[in-house]
Amino acid sequence: MQFSNFLTSAMAMAFFMVLISSCSKDQFEQSDSLQVTEEVKDKVEGLFFNIDDMVVDEITYPDGTTDEVFKVENDIVFTPEQLEEMIKNFVPFDQELNERQYRTNNLVSNNQTITVCGYTGGGGYGLSNKMRTALSWAVNNYNALNTGLNFSLTYTTNYQPYEMVVYRIPNGQAGGVAGFPSGGNPYKWIQIFSGMDNYDTNTVEHVITHEMGHAVGLRHTDWFSRQSCGQSGESAGPDGAVHIPGTPTGYDSNSVMLACFSSNEDGEFGFYDRVALEFLY
Ligand SMILES: [Zn+2]
Repeated sequence: MQFSNFLTSAMAMAFFMVLISSCSKDQFEQSDSLQVTEEVKDKVEGLFFNIDDMVVDEITYPDGTTDEVFKVENDIVFTPEQLEEMIKNFVPFDQELNERQYRTNNLVSNNQTITVCGYTGGGGYGLSNKMRTALSWAVNNYNALNTGLNFSLTYTTNYQPYEMVVYRIPNGQAGGVAGFPSGGNPYKWIQIFSGMDNYDTNTVEHVITHEMGHAVGLRHTDWFSRQSCGQSGESAGPDGAVHIPGTPTGYDSNSVMLACFSSNEDGEFGFYDRVALEFLY
């Protein structure tokens, strides 16, 4: 997710990056590089993502290596293989059910303990003290829910065995990035941008709780309008993703799953975030 005031510059930068990458592709990139083709756009839009800002981006792992991924709605990434899995799992939905809490068709297997690594290694990728505190609070948010999921948190440099790895991206930006579950497992790589150290611990808790929400299958509650990002509220598409029963219509200003955040978040789930997760798990 991203900081709300950064939206305009972020959009401009995304556009600029698309221009740059389209200029340089022919010269420098290998033919197997990802590209946001019309076919890919159609597929992603068919899953009811907002594709306005869809880009090819790099995910950086805690060891500094990178992979190319597609990125939509500023903080949700997936590989071509995960895109195909989402399409395979996609279930049509009632067209009247829009503008509510949403999930993907890809969920984590229920009734399990999810092991979470708070990464403490070097290279700028280790969580700051503030981020470690915020991660503990975020994990407590999930463990306080009445669900079949339990989250077990360890601070360590040995991240590979863990199902979720929460680490810092030293890019100076505010926000984070994650992806959706696949194969019944949560998305592994929860990236928290280093600029979050300029916010209070509750706001960092909010961003980590949000990215963990994606990793277990929650989408943006305002994906259709991105109202939290200061956009017009105009719908991005005629209908929504998979609606979660018991959650409200319209804009839920208390949801931790809004696309953008502000500098005074309390870090806690909204009422309907709890309803959504307790319905799913
Ligand atoms: Zn998000």
